[in-house]
Amino acid sequence: MPSLSHHISALKPSATLEINSAAQNLRDQGHKIWNFSVGEPDYPPPVCAYWQTVQSMCSDPIRYGKAGGGVKLREAIQGKLTRENNLTVQLDEIVCGVGAKQILHHLMHAILNEGDEVLIHKPYWTSYSQQIASAKAVTVAIPYHRDDGGSPFDPDYLERYIGPRTKAFLLCSPNNPAGYMVHGHELKRLAEYLNTKDIWIISDEIYEYITFDHPHQSVYNHCPQLKDRYIHINGISKSFAMTGWRMGYMAAPQAITQLVKTLISHSSTSLPIFVERAACSVIEQGADLMSTEIAQLKDKMKLSVELLSQVNHISWIHPQGAFYLFVDLRQLLKLSDTYHHNNTLALSMDLLKGHHITVVAGEAFGCPGFIRISFATSNHDLKGGLSKLVDFLNSLTSSDSS
Ligand code: PLP
Repeated sequence: MPSLSHHISALKPSATLEINSAAQNLRDQGHKIWNFSVGEPDYPPPVCAYWQTVQSMCSDPIRYGKAGGGVKLREAIQGKLTRENNLTVQLDEIVCGVGAKQILHHLMHAILNEGDEVLIHKPYWTSYSQQIASAKAVTVAIPYHRDDGGSPFDPDYLERYIGPRTKAFLLCSPNNPAGYMVHGHELKRLAEYLNTKDIWIISDEIYEYITFDHPHQSVYNHCPQLKDRYIHINGISKSFAMTGWRMGYMAAPQAITQLVKTLISHSSTSLPIFVERAACSVIEQGADLMSTEIAQLKDKMKLSVELLSQVNHISWIHPQGAFYLFVDLRQLLKLSDTYHHNNTLALSMDLLKGHHITVVAGEAFGCPGFIRISFATSNHDLKGGLSKLVDFLNSLTSSDSS
């Protein structure tokens, strides 16, 4: 057989999709799965999304659309960015694609050359590092901020990681997988620091509507001088629970949007017109469409925290947004003398096979010894499944555990 691409062969498949498909196989065999690995809300999208989709299918020509998004969709996004994010951009500074994931993937190829470095903070969303590697560039992961007292958002600390090959800094707030947010004074200092560096600032704000205590703030708002290097990533998957519609977008300087548009024109061509219509409708109406569901997510977060508090020797950063708890099991694993080297990959497989519980192992986010629990599921499953998880974790340190 002729050889394959070396650098693509070295990429890892998405850990979250892999665990979901293993869980699906068990479900197909008739097992009840306690699913805490999903990266999507369990509630339905707004009704208008369905109406607009069906109406468009019945009345619009279902043909190829415009690479990078039609004018109406980009106008809706332009209006939203002005209204909600205080970000004024031209239509050709917006590009839409098949989910924020596709946009990010093409973005990495548009801005990176071989050997360039991208700074990302641990724990990081599983796809960033693989997208960077697919562009033959290098991920520089800034350590988890509890480990040595430093914060990846503190300029003095960040300075240690910036070098001559640094091409971009990627910020994800509200954060997947840890649910924390960077805001206020910390974000202002970070913005002012980044303004002194000649690098791209990629801000993944896909969870911006899902916040519990403070509204989301963008790094750009703290330093509008960043504008010619600021790349805003967003989409409808999380905010409107429209993961299956597959629409994400980017606002960035035109030099970048042009390149991403070219890549889209050679990969997916365009979005389906009915997806564009549905996306326009929800983006124009905004966060109010989902306020009830987001309030319910806060209650689910509190319930999850309450249940997990029954386990000693574990901890987590209190989630301020998104729908995940990123649980630090390192102390527990040390005390229990199991899952050596913080092997949470093995632990998550045992949880799935032995207890039919799915979580995502921290290895997928650059942090072995942690697990990500998605609490965007029913209260029934939270109570039932997390109680089982609590029993399992407690059994690791009980005297009769083997
Ligand atoms: N960014 C983050 C932080 C995510 O968690 C996800 C999905 O899980 C995405 C981007 C991609 O979202 P989508 O491709 O569904 O728009």
